[in-house]
Amino acid sequence: MAELTERTDSAAAQAVYDIIIIGSGPAGYTAAIYAARANLRTLVIQGEQAGGQLMITSDVENYPGFEDGILGPDMMDKFEAQARRFGAEMLARDVVKVDFTRQPFQVWIETETQEPQYRARAVIIATGASAKWLGLPNELRLQGRGVSGCATCDGPFFRNRELAVVGGGDTAMEEALFLTKYASQVHLLHRRDTFRASKIMQKRAVENPKITIHTDTGVDDVLGENAVEGVRIRNLKTGSAETLPVQGFFVAIGHQPNTGIFKGILEMDEIGYLKTREWTMTNIPGVFAAGDVADHRYRQAVTAAGDGCRAAIDAERWLEAQGEVNTAEVMDPGEWGTVREIIPGGTENA
Ligand code: NAP
Repeated sequence: MAELTERTDSAAAQAVYDIIIIGSGPAGYTAAIYAARANLRTLVIQGEQAGGQLMITSDVENYPGFEDGILGPDMMDKFEAQARRFGAEMLARDVVKVDFTRQPFQVWIETETQEPQYRARAVIIATGASAKWLGLPNELRLQGRGVSGCATCDGPFFRNRELAVVGGGDTAMEEALFLTKYASQVHLLHRRDTFRASKIMQKRAVENPKITIHTDTGVDDVLGENAVEGVRIRNLKTGSAETLPVQGFFVAIGHQPNTGIFKGILEMDEIGYLKTREWTMTNIPGVFAAGDVADHRYRQAVTAAGDGCRAAIDAERWLEAQGEVNTAEVMDPGEWGTVREIIPGGTENA
């Protein structure tokens, strides 16, 4: 299958896909495997940083089938290759605008054009979630100069340096542990005295001689002119402040769902996670959500992959119920018959 870089030929631009999948983590690629394997014409608009959060993860030890673990980026390469094998087309661009008020649904990768670049009868949204930042005065200015949201990406730049990691969840533990491969010392800074991280990850961090854990600790700012030279921390119980002389500052405090372009279009919760109404279908019939973009509870590669499978099956059943495809692998349209009268675009329907 040829790589889509830019869709310039007008005939192709007018083509209507059965399914467009927006996003390319475990959810998006798994949806693509199922959709393409069901003979649906499938386009994955991967995003400019294809692969999602696993591209910034090191060893994945809890995905079944990889008994020795696998690197996140290697796993995503395998997912993508598997989807391509069944004919899914790939496009490494960001979606900038959608119109779900008419059929076929319309998708833009450039805002300047009035005409959409891509159209599809069904859309699966698998845009995932992104790392959050603390909002410190100098955090943004020093990004790429010692402030990082990705230990796997930037850890190797900090050999024999003293580093700080902020957060008390599994991501913070994982990043701190990973950084000990390079750093002379890692300070783990957490605002409370109990951790959200799983017991096994906590134990590994506590037992690692290179990790110093600072509980009840807030961060006032990250310091440095052209590169990180320190971090100003404060004990939240006593109020006492001190400066740690670190050269790298890793923020690992959770994630925000990537749903900005769907605001006002799709129902979402107060944080921005997409809401589903029937199984994986959103408030707009024919638009489905899969993975972390709709899941703030589990957020695992394996659950995201499962969601991608569910969304593809739901989309296939829905298309079949609309009479749009005749080759559906799943023959039971289930309850989607009720959807037939529903006009896409409203929030009152379904
Ligand atoms: P998380 O579990 O939501 O933890 C976020 C941590 O950051 C919390 O400790 C939180 O503190 C802290 N935090 C949030 N906002 C903060 C702020 N403004 N200032 C200071 N601290 C702040 O997020 P996560 O660690 O990214 O994990 C997300 C999910 O992925 C979890 O389900 C986790 O189990 C999973 N995960 C699994 C693995 C693995 O199994 N290998 C690896 C990574 C992630 P409070 O506790 O005080 O709220």
